[in-house]
Amino acid sequence: MNDINTDIQKFYDASSRLWEETWGEHMHHGYYGPDGTEKKDDYQAQVDLIEEFLKWGGVSNAEHILDSGCGIGGSSLYLAKKFNCRVAGITLSPFQVNRARERAANANLETQATFEVADAMKPPFDPGTFDLVWSLESGEHMPDKRQFLQTCFDMLSPGGTFLMATWCHRNQPPALTKSEDEQLKKLYDAYHLPYIISIEDYAQHAVDIGFTDIKTTDWSDAVAPFWQAVVRSVFQIKSISGLVQSGWSTIRGAMAMSLMIRGYRNGLIRFGLLQGKKLKDKG
Ligand code: SAH
Repeated sequence: MNDINTDIQKFYDASSRLWEETWGEHMHHGYYGPDGTEKKDDYQAQVDLIEEFLKWGGVSNAEHILDSGCGIGGSSLYLAKKFNCRVAGITLSPFQVNRARERAANANLETQATFEVADAMKPPFDPGTFDLVWSLESGEHMPDKRQFLQTCFDMLSPGGTFLMATWCHRNQPPALTKSEDEQLKKLYDAYHLPYIISIEDYAQHAVDIGFTDIKTTDWSDAVAPFWQAVVRSVFQIKSISGLVQSGWSTIRGAMAMSLMIRGYRNGLIRFGLLQGKKLKDKG
């Protein structure tokens, strides 16, 4: 495994228990209405993000889903239940796989939803296996964005859909300034991101790869209030003792919340969505 993947694995091995205790099974932003003004329970906001994402992507059914970067299986189990379908979840973190399997067993979904430690850049499945490839806040960790999209494309069966929601930086031009580059660098260090790109760059990769029906959108406004909620959760006493037990990388991740708040405020950090399809075989 390369170094960045080892860092990502260690980060999620160390922090996932605390995250679940504080937040529950979803390790992603919440959706607070199109302009971010809806007041709601933060867990509900995370569920709403999944529902809005499906709606935006026009997905109302699936048979076999690849959850690429699955965390502890929050989306995997939600989708397995919703569509009564099979889901394969992959993550770099053995801790997350164990927890996802436990959660699947508790929900009686262990035959439908399976989990393994695997690299999303080289998934251990045959090409064409899945009719939906789902990547919710994992793309930002991938060391080669174009190759990641190519791999997701390869995993799709003809007619299948790729849905990705990921941390992006703003579109260019104008080119990123030195100060923006410095802000990004801090974020990369705190959250173990090799680099991020703009949603327009993702769309260009998708075109080059041969996806069809490509569409993108920017939900930064809808999700930005999430970070205020994360700040509030960190100041709960339970979280502080948990933080110390979870070690330095978790503490550093928690402290970097301010980078995200600032990034959304000044427009550098964007929450981008991409949908692409693989053409059906002709005849
Ligand atoms: N999608 C989940 C988890 C998001 S956290 C949710 O919304 O709850 C990011 C996840 O991406 C973690 O599970 C991490 O292990 C995974 N990840 C990052 N890089 C990966 C890679 N190269 N291969 C597989 N999983 C990866």
